[in-house]
Amino acid sequence: MSEAGMISAPWLEDIEARRDDLIALTQDLIRIPTLNPPGEAYLEICEYLAARLRPRHFEIELIRAHGSPGDSDKYPRWNIVARREGRAPGACVHFNSHTDVVEVGRGWTTDPFGGELKDGKIYGRGSCDMKGGLAASIIAAEAFIDAFPDFNGAIEISGTADEESGGYGGVAYLAEKGYFDPSRVQHVIIPEPLNKDRVCLGHRGVWWAEIETKGHIAHGSMPFLGDCAVRHMGAVLHEFETSLYPALAGKRTAMPVVPEGARQSTMNINSMHGGQTEPEEDFTGFPSACVPDSCRMVIDRRYIIEEDPEEVRQEVVDILEKVSAQRPDFSYDIKELWHVSPTMTDNDAPVVRSVSRSIEQVLQKSPEYVVSPGTYDQKHIDRIGRLKDCIAYGPGILDLAHQPDEYVGVDDMIDSAKVMALSLKDLLGA
Ligand SMILES: [Zn+2]
Repeated sequence: MSEAGMISAPWLEDIEARRDDLIALTQDLIRIPTLNPPGEAYLEICEYLAARLRPRHFEIELIRAHGSPGDSDKYPRWNIVARREGRAPGACVHFNSHTDVVEVGRGWTTDPFGGELKDGKIYGRGSCDMKGGLAASIIAAEAFIDAFPDFNGAIEISGTADEESGGYGGVAYLAEKGYFDPSRVQHVIIPEPLNKDRVCLGHRGVWWAEIETKGHIAHGSMPFLGDCAVRHMGAVLHEFETSLYPALAGKRTAMPVVPEGARQSTMNINSMHGGQTEPEEDFTGFPSACVPDSCRMVIDRRYIIEEDPEEVRQEVVDILEKVSAQRPDFSYDIKELWHVSPTMTDNDAPVVRSVSRSIEQVLQKSPEYVVSPGTYDQKHIDRIGRLKDCIAYGPGILDLAHQPDEYVGVDDMIDSAKVMALSLKDLLGA
């Protein structure tokens, strides 16, 4: 950056000179196809990161999340934690990136694992979400260490598995093992692609549940001899449409959730299955005539920090009870599948203030504070690790995540690496 008014500390400008290194690093990471599911090449990417960081005097730990969901000898859940000690004890700043990427999907015009550089953008699955962020954090740490070799405290860089499938073989496992204990790590930056001028403070809560309505099987020609579970579920859906959805629309939050449409309570009906199971694709016969005796619906309720999780659950139970009071023979089960509390780091927290100041200095603009509509690994750092000073901050455009022709802009990576490096200097008091 040479425009007037831009920060021009020589050591920060030095990040500019690392552009080719940053590009090559990002391309290398994209070319390791860490697809999840099933969880490919986790060891390979950890070993690549180890080979990169060991010569920079990082102590390397490779940690397999034995026994975590999905972990097997065929698909082991490997994680890396690299720690660089400073000259004297002090605070530790930790950059956590997930190494896994989602399936490729259709519609690509570039090689999803090629890492092609075109017009200042690097293309590939995981370029934006979030290998570009991982590469930027490594360049930031290296530039900082070269400029301030006598820094106090410690820098950690982790590459973790399975974020795209809940993080249980990654950050959750490390948090259980104490890697995010506040006595060991004080500040965490997760370089997820939230755009280089945004600080993401946290996420909404999640409550997944399965509802089953029950019926009685009978011959389809005499449905009056049975009891149709799908019609019972229809009554539940009707109640959702007429009372639950309008209620959710009225629950607005003070959390700065983006996009705007998610700044309230929402609920997705994830799936519904009633009656006979779908036949195999190559089956050419007809269904048999039966009244469905079971219908199951999975709901994905996202809730806001102003809501009490017990009320979120009770609201749905109340609807089921209301339908139950109105419909003869209505019976149901409800089972919680997954629950994550909402989290939002305070605006005054050290990592928020530090990254905000760095954005102002590097980009000459005020940061935007946002909250993610969905969860990410901050949930485990917060809940299991009990570490509150955590944000997501990184390069890349969030909307491109999981899309065909996903890319990350090189200038954005450079800018956010500068922000991360400046934040390191600030948080470590160098
Ligand atoms: Zn991600």
